[in-house]
Amino acid sequence: MVPVKIESARISILGAARSGIAAAGLLKSKGAVVFVSDNKRREEAADEISALEKLGVPFEFGAHSDRVFDADFIVISPGVPSSSAVVLHAVKLGLSIYSEVEVASWFCRAPIVAITGSNGKTTTTTLIGKILQNAGRRTIVAGNIGPPISDFVLDADKASVVVAEVSSFQLDYIDTFKPTVAVLLNITPDHLDRYGTFEAYMDSKFRIFMNQDPDDCAVYNFDDEAVNSYCRGLKSELLPFSVKNRMGAGAFAEGGKVYLVENGAPVFLIDSKDIRIPGVHNLYNSLAASLAAWRLGVGKEVIAETLREFPGVEHRLEPVRELNSVRYVNDSKATNVDAVWYALGSFDSQVVLIAGGKDKGNDYTSLFELVRKKVRAMVLIGQAAPKMLREFSDKTKCVMATSLDDAVVKARDEALPGDVVLLSPACASFDMFKNYEHRGKEFKRLVMAL
Ligand code: ADP
Repeated sequence: MVPVKIESARISILGAARSGIAAAGLLKSKGAVVFVSDNKRREEAADEISALEKLGVPFEFGAHSDRVFDADFIVISPGVPSSSAVVLHAVKLGLSIYSEVEVASWFCRAPIVAITGSNGKTTTTTLIGKILQNAGRRTIVAGNIGPPISDFVLDADKASVVVAEVSSFQLDYIDTFKPTVAVLLNITPDHLDRYGTFEAYMDSKFRIFMNQDPDDCAVYNFDDEAVNSYCRGLKSELLPFSVKNRMGAGAFAEGGKVYLVENGAPVFLIDSKDIRIPGVHNLYNSLAASLAAWRLGVGKEVIAETLREFPGVEHRLEPVRELNSVRYVNDSKATNVDAVWYALGSFDSQVVLIAGGKDKGNDYTSLFELVRKKVRAMVLIGQAAPKMLREFSDKTKCVMATSLDDAVVKARDEALPGDVVLLSPACASFDMFKNYEHRGKEFKRLVMAL
């Protein structure tokens, strides 16, 4: 719900990344007076400046001036921490702060499917989008993964569906955001550098359900204890999914087969082996996506057909090349420990693991056993390398590398025929690369050049 009359509102937007610029465009088109503020240096913001100039929105770079506070409310970008001085001051002044998905939802006439979780958001969001498209539905896939919802929301009518990946940073600043279908994939420790405690991070994820009523539905991971015990108490329609338990509602996998539950009875959907994206984690993602699409009226045949075809998303366990009987796999998007755990679990062969980067306060304990069993050698890069060396050197052979280039060569040298060389860093990329895409593309280029 729009908190003030937008046509006469003055709105400050913190952060001039994609979502901030999109929100600025949307709010301006609705008649608001918008101002964008970003503390990034002007010299580094050429693209942002030209986008804002095109929109005709006034802006400042380099620092946040007091002009930010001369507003009816503030829109915050996911990159701006809640603990930053500008946010703390706005709170002190009593200004309301909203995220871009909250703002976009004020103007959305289509049902929203929102997807969150520590891992699997992009894969699941993309898959839900594909299923809906294959079913002939007008679908807008937006959010974290691509264009922000604000860019498209005015094009969506009641017959369309908006499928949006939402991060915990977006959820921190929702107020009335109310998805028709909310999907919570899993919660594992991530972003502890921003949230401080695991509990604070969990609470932020649970906000995805906070405005739902019994007409909306909650698709959630029954096997994730924290998620399950929280979601059981929701007033939304409950659609749990599990690969360990037979379910009385929702969906489950058992004996190599996947079932949707219709009026309490399991209905066969697909053989697990026919799902193209590999690994148990992708079975979870497939269950969640199937439930969301099914709840929106898509038939089982279209869902199953899409699961057979969907190749996955770039940088997520992406096969790159086979060379001298060694497979090279790009999992650059594995920026936390849990993603690496699933990545290692999805191969039967021995793995030479390239890992490291910018450590986000990681606890590597959960990887120890798998690394002992499955990892022939670890090649370590980036700021996290010394810490990872300390943690893993008694579990497997560890090799330090000075660059990704060096790491790829060293990994090749460690690998034996039949092995997988896997880039699955468990860390963010910002110490050496622009982002995980940049890291993944570099990896692929280096592997192709071997
Ligand atoms: P997100 O958008 O939440 O970061 P992605 O789909 O981009 O999720 O996948 C990120 C990483 O996590 C990849 O390395 C991928 O292989 C792994 N992953 C995907 N789905 C899951 C899941 N359900 N559980 C754990 N790891 C997953």
